[in-house]
Amino acid sequence: MSFAFDNSYARLPESFHARVLPTPVAAPRLLALNEKLAAELGLDAKALASADGIAMLAGNRIPPRAEPIAMAYSGHQFGHFNAQLGDGRAILLGEIITPSGERRDLHLKGAGPTPFSRRGDGRAALGPVIREYIVSEAMQALGVPTTRALAAVTTGESVYREEVLPGAVLTRVASSHIRVGTFEFFGSRGDRDGLQKLADYVIARHYPDLAQEADKYEKLLEAIVTRQARLVAQWMHIGFIHGVMNTDNMTVSGETIDYGPCAFMEAYHPSTVFSFIDRQGRYAYANQPSIAQWNLARLAECLMMLFAHEAEAPERANAALSSFKTHFQKAYLDGLRRKIGLRAAQDDDASLLADLFNRMAENEADFTLTFRRLCASVADPTADAGVATLFKDPSSFAGFAEKWRARLAQEGGDLPERAQQMRRVNPAFIPRNHRVEEAIAAALKNDLAPFHQLNRVLEKPFEDQPEFVEYMLPARPEERVTQTFCGT
Ligand code: AMP
Ligand code: MG
Repeated sequence: MSFAFDNSYARLPESFHARVLPTPVAAPRLLALNEKLAAELGLDAKALASADGIAMLAGNRIPPRAEPIAMAYSGHQFGHFNAQLGDGRAILLGEIITPSGERRDLHLKGAGPTPFSRRGDGRAALGPVIREYIVSEAMQALGVPTTRALAAVTTGESVYREEVLPGAVLTRVASSHIRVGTFEFFGSRGDRDGLQKLADYVIARHYPDLAQEADKYEKLLEAIVTRQARLVAQWMHIGFIHGVMNTDNMTVSGETIDYGPCAFMEAYHPSTVFSFIDRQGRYAYANQPSIAQWNLARLAECLMMLFAHEAEAPERANAALSSFKTHFQKAYLDGLRRKIGLRAAQDDDASLLADLFNRMAENEADFTLTFRRLCASVADPTADAGVATLFKDPSSFAGFAEKWRARLAQEGGDLPERAQQMRRVNPAFIPRNHRVEEAIAAALKNDLAPFHQLNRVLEKPFEDQPEFVEYMLPARPEERVTQTFCGT
């Protein structure tokens, strides 16, 4: 099997990483292989599923021309700075150049200890690996920038958490694994040279248009701010709660990374939190934009050290940071307009939407189904009953529907066509938490059918798929998942 490796990160100075090999595991077994992604990467899926391929996916065999490293990074975790994080249970095998010329990290999560491991065992448990596989691939299908899952294998070994669990390794693919925390690693050490090398590397890899600009580091900050603002707006549009938005879990490429305690909201409420460790609700649904901006302020503190004009640096940095709000608000509102079928922007759209959200919150309406059923309502008021039943007080929906129809009427246009457009932004299927848990519970009993089935349904989130209607439904009270765990 040949891999088109070109390992640019491994060529950066020693301080950026530690060279380390994955620790072999006892008995690797393939759980899932993402054949479509393999093809996009120019990898031979058949070969990956062979004994040699599985050995590579488990870290037992190093593919030719790989240069395994663990990346150094720091990070603010729940607001507190930790200078020494880094890949403690993940190893970057290398970067492959895809047939279409894109550079992608090939990374084994759960591949054994590294110099950054400190306390942990460097391993991952089956549950979190399955969760990341399902949710990251679902995000991709939902059109949200994200790291991908190429494969999952079990190791034939146990990992010890609160309980004994089967070990697993996820092969993660990303446009890179450089985080806000990677900048903090150099910034906190006052290593201006390292910081500049990192910034130049990020520009070359992710923002090549900036390379010739005189104020390229200022522009880099602006560009990362813009991508993150758009990313978080997309999360908000689908009710996604990341759960652990530490600066080491935020990429500079603008991809969602680290699916630990993440979850999708069912009943809409802005203060929804799932993560067991997030006791203050720092990373609650509605806090995500301001937390992203807080994280970007930590990035700005590092990048400022490189700004061309020292005297103007704080001002430039602040301007870039405050542009977050503008970019976020625009992306957020534009997306919400599309979700309710509006094309043109009007000043009172925000208050129309706020009215809907207030009613949803008061009535514990399912976020995903409310918007999905609005797609039918837009062209057919008799479908309103289907939306209204999602509200504890069904009559509450009518108050919104009246204003909404008046607003739609002002725009005119073909309503059935609008319904079709709405169906392309309001998913029918999201990885509902109880379905994810169900897939994990079955996998722990060696039954992978629910895992594969769920992945199949989530490949086409915007199609009705009537044969899978039960996957559209929220959890029944006894199925409801109220807390999620990192599982590290
Ligand atoms: P995470 O919560 O996955 O974002 O990880 C935060 C930090 O803890 C990173 O530096 C990880 O590499 C490290 N870490 C998490 N789990 C483990 C583990 N099982 N063994 C070693 N390091 C870990
Ligand atoms: Mg992390």
